[in-house]
Amino acid sequence: MFESLLERRDQADVERLSNEIKTALADHHHWMHKISLAIAARKPIDEPSFIAEDAHQYCNFGLWIDSILKDKDFQTHAFTRIDQLHKTLHDQARMLLVSLEKTQQFDEQKYDDFLETQRNFFNEVLSMLEFSVISKYQFDPTTKLLNRRSANMLLAHEKARIQQTNHSDCCIALGDIDKFKDFNDTYGHDLGDLVLEHVAFIFNTTIRKHDSVARFGGEEFLFVMPNLNLENAKKVIERVRKKLESTPFIHQGNALTITASFGVTQLSHDDDIKNSIKRADVALYTAKNSGRNKTISLDAAEAEAINHNSADSELNQVDA
Ligand code: GH3
Ligand code: MG
Ligand code: MG
Repeated sequence: MFESLLERRDQADVERLSNEIKTALADHHHWMHKISLAIAARKPIDEPSFIAEDAHQYCNFGLWIDSILKDKDFQTHAFTRIDQLHKTLHDQARMLLVSLEKTQQFDEQKYDDFLETQRNFFNEVLSMLEFSVISKYQFDPTTKLLNRRSANMLLAHEKARIQQTNHSDCCIALGDIDKFKDFNDTYGHDLGDLVLEHVAFIFNTTIRKHDSVARFGGEEFLFVMPNLNLENAKKVIERVRKKLESTPFIHQGNALTITASFGVTQLSHDDDIKNSIKRADVALYTAKNSGRNKTISLDAAEAEAINHNSADSELNQVDA
């Protein structure tokens, strides 16, 4: 339900979200406690968070969810539903207290409705909290990028999106640091880890806002670029490659140039995700074999035609 959020967020964002939910929930518990006391003592409370028509805006949870919904990325069904339930909860509490004051009678039906809304509200908020906590484990601790598991989720999400939106574009790329083993052998594994952080930072800050980059393996990175055709995706990746090449890693006052090679292709609409990755890998392999520090693209339709022709010629050979 919340997966689409992940592609726009980094680890710090998810941690902030998780902490904010906890604080907002604690505030709401405090409010619920006061409501219970008011009902038990049968006396009205004159704080605006209980009696105002827009009572939901007077509590911290309301202020928090308002600020969240101002961010376009969070305007999803899940957050809108939580917002709705929260407003209903405040409305029902207000009506309960007003009726109590007017009639001095406890309205059991109103109270049951209020409890039911409260249950739904807490369930929704808890699943959001669970999502944000689980999401913390979807980042790679060294580079702080999405890990391979998240990358696979993202690919599945994008594939479903391009199929639903009638064949819109999405491209992917694999990037692999050049001669990284030599770097580790010369400078040691710990410094190698700092280089991974350096590379990840450059990749993550050079892509467009709606692109994502994940650590896909040891020194291998996967880029997901929605709404881009192959030509433009290659341009994005070339910019990333050049940025890395021109931003040396500084070690003890020495500027060490780090480079990487890249293979770019489309995420195919009608083919397995694994085949798209395989194609990106073939392009990456070509980049490595043609001198490294290069970006090579491989068109899905062309690769398909080559595969088809070679299968045909194998058949012809069998026939002959
Ligand atoms: P190529 O240009 O062909 O990619 O050469 P390469 O040396 O980068 O490739 P190779 O596959 O031979 O070696 C990959 C190296 O990446 C070996 C491994 O020690 C290093 N590596 C993988 N994961 C990590 C990591 O988490 N930290 C460090 N420091 N090194 C890693
Ligand atoms: Mg490698
Ligand atoms: Mg390598």
